[in-house]
Amino acid sequence: MLFSELVEFYEKIEAISGRIEMTNLLVQLLGKTPPEIIDKVVYLTLGEVYPPFVGIELGVADRLALRAIKLASGMSEREVEKAYKELGDVGLVGERMLAKRSQVTLFMQQLTVQDVYSALERIAREMGEGAMEAKVQILSGLLASAQPKEAKYILRIVTGKMRLGIADMTILDALAILYGGGKEWRELFERAYNLTSDIGYVAKVAAMSRIEGLKQIKITVGRPIRPMLAERLASAEEILRKLGGKCMAEYKYDGERMQIHKKGDDVIIFSRRLENITSQYPDVVELVRNHVKADEAILECECVAIDPDTGDMLPFQELMHRKRKHEVHKAVEQYPVRIHFFDALYIDGRDLTLRPLEERRRALEQIIEEGERVKLSKAIITSDPGELERFFHEAIENGCEGLVVKSLGAEAIYRAGARGWLWIKYKRSYLSRLADTIDLVVVGGFYGRGKRSGLFGALLLSCYDDEQDVFKTVCKLGTGFTDEDLAKLRAMLEPYRLDRPHPRVVVGGIEADVWFVPRLVLEVLGDELTISPTHSAGLAVRFPRFTGRYRDDKRPEDATTLRELWDMYRSQLKKIEE
Ligand code: AMP
Repeated sequence: MLFSELVEFYEKIEAISGRIEMTNLLVQLLGKTPPEIIDKVVYLTLGEVYPPFVGIELGVADRLALRAIKLASGMSEREVEKAYKELGDVGLVGERMLAKRSQVTLFMQQLTVQDVYSALERIAREMGEGAMEAKVQILSGLLASAQPKEAKYILRIVTGKMRLGIADMTILDALAILYGGGKEWRELFERAYNLTSDIGYVAKVAAMSRIEGLKQIKITVGRPIRPMLAERLASAEEILRKLGGKCMAEYKYDGERMQIHKKGDDVIIFSRRLENITSQYPDVVELVRNHVKADEAILECECVAIDPDTGDMLPFQELMHRKRKHEVHKAVEQYPVRIHFFDALYIDGRDLTLRPLEERRRALEQIIEEGERVKLSKAIITSDPGELERFFHEAIENGCEGLVVKSLGAEAIYRAGARGWLWIKYKRSYLSRLADTIDLVVVGGFYGRGKRSGLFGALLLSCYDDEQDVFKTVCKLGTGFTDEDLAKLRAMLEPYRLDRPHPRVVVGGIEADVWFVPRLVLEVLGDELTISPTHSAGLAVRFPRFTGRYRDDKRPEDATTLRELWDMYRSQLKKIEE
């Protein structure tokens, strides 16, 4: 197939905008494309050489492309620059420059799709030292044999600016019309795409072996599955009603979603957008090797940053350190993570995507060996809105965003690539930002582990309830202490140590390892105040950290009062803007 046929089609597409018209044109194009190269035609049309999850990109910047244009056209640098300033689009610059080129190319061979694709593939695969120069050479060679219009699209593809407005879904529509012969087959095309995330591959299977071939498409370890997404509701009652009165509710961890593919010791991690992010998480690769007891598996988890000293979850932003390529190893040390598995899509030859949630969960439980850094998502099964509500607040208090509440029915399959009502997000619609520091009283302690063994890992803090003259707990504080602080605190607290809660301390759902006479007051900074089912104050400080100030000047009765906390909670309550 000649590349000029593709170009002719691209020119037509550029001139229209309606999706139906676009689909019809695509049907014509794909219909006359030889099956053996249909995948390549699809990738090129999307401006790619491989499906995105492969992670190999053309990586040609405009500057580099302009150099290739200069070499191929024989025009001066000044002229190329001038055209670029005027047109602002390397594609159009290439088209104009090549039209003016000095050598007459009457007997030039016409480019085939295969010629263009192979050259682009070679450009994409040039990496490392000297790669830029090599890319320019290959590109200018390709442009030298191209017609001006062909150059326009080659340049747009190579610089990542194809933008014909054709999406994967439009191609799927066209394929279904071409090879499906009816609406009823559309679902099959979609499923093939959702299981492979590779529209070129689906096109090829459809073109080569039609419906029968599509039916045979199976999950493959290494090819990401398009993720299932959640709908959203704002109350426990509504959610339960929607799910038929019973549900499985899970913590909604605030981290990065991962789809993990394991085959023996080989582990690939895909992001929610199905990019290969394995290199950012060498520690997760190791955790998967050691804690997933299956030879082959495709599992989903949420990866959260944790405070290594306390095991507490940290806000999502802490994962950003993993995005800096050269600092991953440092980040692994300084910003450790924990993974929480929530779904199993495939285990040792068994496709679980069409099995109901409870069965997938059981399968997951069988192969995950939990450890400090590897957990299953915390989950309950309930039909009680009150219980669901309490679990929701507990999740937030523990650093989560809320819950993902899931359907338990027989229809509760893993709906790859779809946002639907089988999963419902339950997030807060209000939050109460803490603007100021607060002063809290130490009433309990938790033994430290690892670096903190022999010291306290965290302290249990309370506010003062001046109406009842008691102390009510509001948070566990483990962050913000220096090594010196910890040593000092051990000594400071020793004289107040008790083996049961002090009679003036009201204990909620939290069991400390040791208890103290309420005496020491610390200054604390927190992100928010949240409703708490576990702390006796009924409120909790979320993400608390010690500011470094010991409030020796304050008596415990001078600490922030319960009433003040509730006032702060109410006055700082704001609707979450999204
Ligand atoms: P959304 O992506 O907007 O549909 O919201 C659901 C997101 O919540 C998923 O993409 C996951 O990243 C995240 N998540 C956190 N915990 C869970 C869980 N237990 N089950 C499912 N998704 C979860």
